[in-house]
Amino acid sequence: MSTLPNALCPPHRVLLGPGPSDVAPSILGALAKPTVGHLDPYFLTVMDEVRSMLREVFGTQNELTFPMSGTGSSGMETCFANLIEPGDEVLIGVNGVFGGRMVDVAERCGAVVTRVEGEWGRALTADAFREAAAGKSFKILACVHAETSTGVSQAIPPLREVANEVGALLLMDCVTSIAGTPLKLDGWGVDAAYSGTQKCLSCPPGLSPISFSEAASDRLSARSKKVQSWYLDLSMISNYWGSERAYHHTAPINMLYGLHEALRLALEEGLEARAERHQRNGEALCAGLEALGLELVVPQEERLPQLTAVRIPDGVDDGAVRRHLLENYGLEIGGGLGPMKGKVWRIGLMGAGSTSRNVALCLSALKTALSSQS
Ligand SMILES: *Cc1c(COP(=O)(O)O)cnc(C)c1O
Repeated sequence: MSTLPNALCPPHRVLLGPGPSDVAPSILGALAKPTVGHLDPYFLTVMDEVRSMLREVFGTQNELTFPMSGTGSSGMETCFANLIEPGDEVLIGVNGVFGGRMVDVAERCGAVVTRVEGEWGRALTADAFREAAAGKSFKILACVHAETSTGVSQAIPPLREVANEVGALLLMDCVTSIAGTPLKLDGWGVDAAYSGTQKCLSCPPGLSPISFSEAASDRLSARSKKVQSWYLDLSMISNYWGSERAYHHTAPINMLYGLHEALRLALEEGLEARAERHQRNGEALCAGLEALGLELVVPQEERLPQLTAVRIPDGVDDGAVRRHLLENYGLEIGGGLGPMKGKVWRIGLMGAGSTSRNVALCLSALKTALSSQS
């Protein structure tokens, strides 16, 4: 290389897409603190505090609760890789991208998957699961709590009933719900859950907190074969997060500092107050979008407050509007995925980004971007 690149100087964006979300300043500060060893006594305390705060945010007492080293998808893969043995029957709700990704991951683990197909932009009903199950029994029933590709919120308790009927463990994706929507893993009877740091926890991407109930942990111990993935094998990783502190892989120390601060911020605000803030700002955004004459994708009772999908009006250039927002306002919103590509925008108000100031900024920026089109 003839000239050395300059030191990085990233722009300050306002991240109102489907994640990553704006990172709280004290979390960026935590990331920059001195790195210690992954078995340093100081770090062991950090780990214990992360675990106990995570339990509170997940709404669980599950012993097996800790962050995986990897993004949200690594948590998805961890759940399926540890709970599935080849040939296992699995029932998965698919009404968006992430349900579809679960199917792919489960099949790669050797599962025989029955898909519960639903309309994109609508929640799935318990009866849709019952019909697809057709009286058979299943090892796992899996669903996405907050479907970020469409902005749909899925009610979990009715799916627990179906899981009981088909004899399945209940597995839930809470990547976008954690710290934005209250989670009650124990109250709802969820057996395995995975999440991510870069949505409503307002941390950079890089960790995936997971939690396994006693029934899920029993399923893991009763496996007839080793978990196929060495890196994601919870029977080994739980020895590092547990009292043995046995080295498995080097924990991403500074990311865990970041998660520690993110969890601390969420609990300091209060989970109910945080959920109410997300609700209030989400509703204000929806009202403002409708006042601009735009059409929302999801019916009110199934909407997520932290992610709103809105239809792109006919004749409006998706890319040009998003470029206008980025270039003139430093504002990022998301485009559509899969069948919704080019048809919707996805606006996230997640974690530190869920503020009335961002709602106002987004609405006024979108208004000028749309009028620059006509
Ligand atoms: C973002 C997201 C994922 C994937 O997480 P990555 O961090 O991108 O790997 C999975 N499920 C849902 C619902 C998500 O929003």
